[in-house]
Amino acid sequence: MACRICYSVLVTGSNRGIGFELVRQLVDSPLGPVKIFAGCRDPNGPRAQELQELAQKHQDVITVVQLDIGCPASITEASKLVEAKVQDKGLNLIINNAGVNIPGSLADTGKSTMVDVYTTNVVGPMIVAKDFRPLLCKAAAQFSHQTSMSCKRSAIINVSTLLSSITMCHENFSQAPMYPYRVSKAALNMLTRCLAEDLKNDGILVMALHPGWVQTEMGGSEAPLTAAESVRGMLGVITNLTEKDTGTLLDWKGNSIPW
Ligand code: NDP
Repeated sequence: MACRICYSVLVTGSNRGIGFELVRQLVDSPLGPVKIFAGCRDPNGPRAQELQELAQKHQDVITVVQLDIGCPASITEASKLVEAKVQDKGLNLIINNAGVNIPGSLADTGKSTMVDVYTTNVVGPMIVAKDFRPLLCKAAAQFSHQTSMSCKRSAIINVSTLLSSITMCHENFSQAPMYPYRVSKAALNMLTRCLAEDLKNDGILVMALHPGWVQTEMGGSEAPLTAAESVRGMLGVITNLTEKDTGTLLDWKGNSIPW
């Protein structure tokens, strides 16, 4: 008998783009999670309308959670709300999807842009991991009958990018000279490796996933992949992760990307 992707999941930045499509496909799947926490920094704002409509249709599954990953107090509050809903089962899976790209050449980029992008793309996922760790640990203990490491048991997926790869920078820098974004996502990769080491004894899998170049506000209309195609691939990869994948950087097809 096929089993669920996982019992519970939190997706950050889920009001549009790849995050919204993740929630949409998860709730549509017959093997989708029982509880989906849709993180969104302004749940009552105009940009969350589509997410609110989806949540309204699936009230028993989707909970929209106020979550600004640039604001530690908001992350702490979100972890309390999720804890109240999942109780002893804990939280199986976090997809750290929320992110920003402020394109900037060397000449255009100053301290505030570097710091702002780093705050969202690196500090945010770090505080999410820290505050939600007790819930991930609870899930790892509750679902220990699952394979040793998997998203069914307990996992953090950090949404990274091909542009984070230091090895490949010489191949693609001139097409995308984005200092704040590249540097922050390379740091997110290191965060991924640190967490993978730190949390392995808790049974928590941690990896970084590149969604491909995707048609969203960030990816632009020239991108080759639709959000639906990218997310189908991402969910296929996430579902099949095992212990050997902790601490890796993979793309939406499951191919390894050099650091
Ligand atoms: P979008 O710009 O379309 O969406 C970004 C999402 O992140 C929005 O929901 C946005 O919310 C949210 N967000 C931004 N800052 C915060 C914050 N401080 N707190 C909470 N939510 C926040 O981007 P994509 O969907 O394309 O990107 C999703 C992820 O995929 C990102 O991490 C990105 O780096 C990565 N990626 C995307 C690629 C692409 O081609 N599109 C390629 C490689 C990686 P709000 O509406 O409130 O701004």
